[in-house]
Amino acid sequence: MNAFEIDRSWIRKAFLEFVQIDSPSLCEGKMANRLQAELENLGFSVYEDGAGVKLGGQTGNLIAHLDGDSSRPALFLAAHMDTVQPGVGIRPKVDEQDVVWSDHSTILGADDKAGVTAILAAVKAVVESNAPHGPIEVIFTIAEEMGLQGAKHLEYDKVKARAGLSLDSSGPLGSLVVAAPTQVRWEAQVFGKSAHAGVEPENGISAIKVAAQAVARMPHGRIDKQTTVNVGSFVGEGPTNVVRDRVQLVGEARSLHPDRLSGVMDEIRTAFVTTAESLGARAEFSAAKMYDGFHFDEDNPVRQRVEAAILQAGYRPNPIQSGGGSDANMYTANGLTAVNIGIGYEQIHSTQEHVSLRDIEGAAEVAAAFLTLL
Ligand SMILES: [Zn+2]
Repeated sequence: MNAFEIDRSWIRKAFLEFVQIDSPSLCEGKMANRLQAELENLGFSVYEDGAGVKLGGQTGNLIAHLDGDSSRPALFLAAHMDTVQPGVGIRPKVDEQDVVWSDHSTILGADDKAGVTAILAAVKAVVESNAPHGPIEVIFTIAEEMGLQGAKHLEYDKVKARAGLSLDSSGPLGSLVVAAPTQVRWEAQVFGKSAHAGVEPENGISAIKVAAQAVARMPHGRIDKQTTVNVGSFVGEGPTNVVRDRVQLVGEARSLHPDRLSGVMDEIRTAFVTTAESLGARAEFSAAKMYDGFHFDEDNPVRQRVEAAILQAGYRPNPIQSGGGSDANMYTANGLTAVNIGIGYEQIHSTQEHVSLRDIEGAAEVAAAFLTLL
């Protein structure tokens, strides 16, 4: 049963307009102004936070409030305003199946303007139907595509709701992200000793050979169901007649289990340090956490609310694990519970990116149900 009249023609018009407003990361000013006007029309008071000043962007994050029945929980809906490149001068085309594409010279920007559109359509439906709801907050972030920088610098003290829905995942309607890994970025430098490769190679220590042996010894690829490691770059450039004395490697590691992750990180560090020592070289190793992971189990009340909303909108809840980071990781790391849902966009970050208007409507139905369920 669906209590809401989602305005389908508004969704089509708004989505096509929003993707044509250029908003690469840190250049979301025009988009933010447009969304602020839309939110104020719906009765929200809109606050622009200081993240834009900190990051050198055109605008901060938008945090918008709408009063509601205070006996109900305050809830937020979140999406990001920025897009990746090539994302300037987007010309959307709608095909016969109501699927929207770019002209293939740019991305489409459905990531995450489909989310932005669905949020506004959901709130519009709730407000216009006079359905009872608690306080509603809408968070539109900047610079998500730069490593969640907007959500990282969000003014969390301005957010009253403790729980919310993030509309920013690929996957069909019904998918909800219930777990995401903690992610670490690491860097290793190996220092050997240079020497003429033809005249006296025995006086050199090849950093390339040492690093290659360390990589061969360290955990790599899929470690277990929940843990992965990758070397993303291995750089040691020089002429062929010199034994290379320096190599730099950058990689990552992810796991749903923080303990497992720190164990794997120890093994990687040890592989570099001990291999270098045993071959007369030296290694420097550093690691930094990029995102905190999370896991919402079946009795998590926010997860339950999202699953109920998905059902009410006519879809089948499909809990998934995410391998990547999204604003939801940052919200969760800052004490909020944010469940990210699949909104049907496909092939994001490519010129083949597309989304069905029907899926944006479906996402709006889920969000409206999320806001109004008892
Ligand atoms: Zn996104």
